[in-house]
Amino acid sequence: MAMALPAAGIRARSVQPSSNAPVPLSPNFGERRGGLVPELVVIHYTAMESCAAAAARLCDPRHEVSAHYLLDYDGTLLALVPETARAWHAGAGSWCGRDDINSRSIGIELANDGAEPFPEPQMRALETLLAGILARWNLPPEAVIGHSDMAPGRKTDPGARFDWRRLARTGLAVWPEPLGQTAPAESFAAFVQRFGYPAAPTETLLAAFRLRFRPWAKGSVDGLDAGLAQSLMLRFAIDQDGPVG
Ligand SMILES: [Zn+2]
Repeated sequence: MAMALPAAGIRARSVQPSSNAPVPLSPNFGERRGGLVPELVVIHYTAMESCAAAAARLCDPRHEVSAHYLLDYDGTLLALVPETARAWHAGAGSWCGRDDINSRSIGIELANDGAEPFPEPQMRALETLLAGILARWNLPPEAVIGHSDMAPGRKTDPGARFDWRRLARTGLAVWPEPLGQTAPAESFAAFVQRFGYPAAPTETLLAAFRLRFRPWAKGSVDGLDAGLAQSLMLRFAIDQDGPVG
């Protein structure tokens, strides 16, 4: 009897009721607050030396951090927290004037030390995962953001090496277009905040924005930054002040 229990437990754990309801591997989650459901997807990198180390940390109750998914370098997917639950990945920040991002989002951690490129198998697996999430929760491409977008000045992941443009080509994120248009530099902060960024000093917003949309740019805000921001605002801004009259 005592011998049979572990085997039964292992069998039960390996049988998945469906791909939408994996057995949670991390204890670090709770209920989404206020009846909120996922309306954003937040991309992170782990900034750790290995995927195994990141998995251990994201499943350790002492650290009180988690994410819904962890993607290894080779594309192996670990489902840590059910999509219906509130994982603890986002922390302080906001997007489109909305806070408690943990209650509003699904968090994806990519194994990455913070400086290295993201390998092709990992990117392909991310694309498959994102397509499923957007379909399951009926989310538009602009719902996919970086941790650095919602927490400018505090977070820098997934970093300058993450290929947002690639995701945008298949409708899994957004990219400004047409490129090369300019707008008054002094409008940059207003434009990016209408797109979704939180209120912050212009230099802080510029650092976060360039990390995602113009990582090669240097110097203070210019007309090209403002042009990119204007393009995103015109296509994706939602009214943050309530219903449109
Ligand atoms: Zn992060």
